Amino acid sequence: MNHTLTVCPYCGTGCMFYLVSDGGQLVGVEPSVTHPISRGGLCVKGWNAFAFVHHPDRLTTPLIRRGGELRPASWDEALGLVVDRLREIQERHGADSIMFASSAKATNEENYLLMKLARGAFGTNNIDHCARLCHSSTVVGLAETFGSGAMTNSIDCIDRAEAILVIGSNTTEQHPLIGSRILKAARSGARLIVADNRRIRLARHADLHLRHRNGSDVAFLNGMMQVIIAEGLEDREFIESRCDNYPALAAAVAHWTPERAAAVTGLEPGEIVAAARLFAKAKTAMIVYSMGITQHSHGVDNVRCCAALAMLTGNLGRPGTGVNPLRGQNNVQGGCDMGALPDVFSGYQKVADPAVREKFADAWGVDGLPEQPGLPLTRAMDAAAEGQLKGMFILGENPILSDPDQGHARRALESLDFLAVQDIFLTETAQLADVVLPAACFAEKEGTFTNTERRVQRVRKAVEPPGKARADWEIICALAERAGYGGMRYPDPSAVMDEIASLTPIYGGIGYDRLDPHGLQWPCPDRSHPGTPILHVGRFTRDSGRFSPAPYRPPAELPDGDYPFVLTTGRTYFHWHTGTMTRRTHLLDREERCSFVEINPDDAARLGIRERDRVLVTSRRGEVQARARVTEMVVPGVVFMPFHFTEGAANALTNNVLDPESAIPEFKVCAVRVRRA
Ligand code: SF4
Repeated sequence: MNHTLTVCPYCGTGCMFYLVSDGGQLVGVEPSVTHPISRGGLCVKGWNAFAFVHHPDRLTTPLIRRGGELRPASWDEALGLVVDRLREIQERHGADSIMFASSAKATNEENYLLMKLARGAFGTNNIDHCARLCHSSTVVGLAETFGSGAMTNSIDCIDRAEAILVIGSNTTEQHPLIGSRILKAARSGARLIVADNRRIRLARHADLHLRHRNGSDVAFLNGMMQVIIAEGLEDREFIESRCDNYPALAAAVAHWTPERAAAVTGLEPGEIVAAARLFAKAKTAMIVYSMGITQHSHGVDNVRCCAALAMLTGNLGRPGTGVNPLRGQNNVQGGCDMGALPDVFSGYQKVADPAVREKFADAWGVDGLPEQPGLPLTRAMDAAAEGQLKGMFILGENPILSDPDQGHARRALESLDFLAVQDIFLTETAQLADVVLPAACFAEKEGTFTNTERRVQRVRKAVEPPGKARADWEIICALAERAGYGGMRYPDPSAVMDEIASLTPIYGGIGYDRLDPHGLQWPCPDRSHPGTPILHVGRFTRDSGRFSPAPYRPPAELPDGDYPFVLTTGRTYFHWHTGTMTRRTHLLDREERCSFVEINPDDAARLGIRERDRVLVTSRRGEVQARARVTEMVVPGVVFMPFHFTEGAANALTNNVLDPESAIPEFKVCAVRVRRA
């Protein structure tokens, strides 16, 4: 038996475990007992993370569409066709007529290389990452406020918090080991406020469970801040010494009395007052949030309010405090850090800055790099549907199931002149491609992932990829070679990380020789730096923390006579995103086999719907069938669906309206009607 220490491929918690292999086959997983997060434990997905690796559905050879069918091809043919078709499109329609989409499932090195391929070899800033769909509003909101768009504290800080506000995060299901830390903290005396419309497991252990209306977070948080200021509970010293624009915040929240906030949120005024007092009176209070905050047409405003609440109460730069967005996938943080974004290079260095462009152009050996920021992924899908974007290269993502308004996503991809997909399975999106490139999965390659607390950790190869599949980094470098760009020849991913470190100040001290056993947290500017568990200690990344008042804007689509329910979407404990890996994992699939709709017992009784009935859910964009789950998890007037399932795809219903600043879609609120099928 061989034991290979690596990182879980699922959530951003970033647990480390040993892949156990025997004779070139994975046979199990053993958690790392010394890892600061895993501590000898894993959730059900982690324990089963080896099981999809040898699935018979794995892609083992490149595929090219011929006569309408995807047929096996050689690597030479497939790589040549991808480069020739993308080049041809650029010659005919311009450099920005193509788009590269990167993935949180790919390593840091692979995200960096795809970004380099797009910019250095194809001359376009049209490169974006699946973070567009989950935390782009965090990056915009926190970077504007603190100067850095990442989790401010460490997971360990949960143990030091006197009060924890969990808002828009079903932590025990989506980040289970962080969820269990929060539960443990609550059992040890931390006061827990859960602000979530659903009765999630954490709510059962909360001092306060606030079921505010979906999409009313700005009103709720402004209401809390009004109470804090009105009762003199703000941290004057912190505000005066470290923040600016406070008068604007105070003026903006002054009219958000508990009564007014209650009218918008559906809460009782006393609940808002109680939450404000509990949070502001704690010596250490932390905010934990996730996609319930970010995935709104006002996602950036939600993030601004979280940041303002922390600054107002002086809860930054100390253990047990902070604004802590939990990244969904294992390497969402790293994909953003690596500059797989349309407006920045690695380390959030702006493409609009001539000195930054010159630095990267010199290092990459190219004459110049494009100056105009490229398209966010969501806007690229609009551009494709409108015929303005002609070619797309998608690495490890499945927008047919993960993007809002599935009909729109399908129209967009079908409108392209050319689509290439690189993945480990023939996903719903890969089935539409002209070329499919078979990739290695996490267990079959070397690299690094960066978890939600900015911890850069080693991914290690335990077994060989199947058939002719190759590591993403090798495929990307081969594409660069075919494109005639010689600047991407590396002996191994470690050399890629050395280049990243040389160009990226926050990763400046990262090297594979320093990452054993459990990684380093950025910023880590030089080789002697120990890493940074807590950001903004003593001073913010920018000169001062900036309060940004946020006005309340309701969700773009609210219930009416035709579509009387709010639909909100999310994930379940047993499955992961579009189910490509977990639905091919027997023990996970057995637990949750099909799509479902949570509906409140009062609504179900009124509509004659019983447990497990098939129901039809319809929005202005589509309709799907799923099994009814009659439960008080949801309040009357609200239904919940997971988005994992192609049969009963929740994103056939969701609304493709975007936050104007971050271009994140409003997955969390749209209007639907429900009836028995
Ligand atoms: Fe993997 Fe997240 Fe579960 Fe840890 S909590 S084992 S990282 S899915």
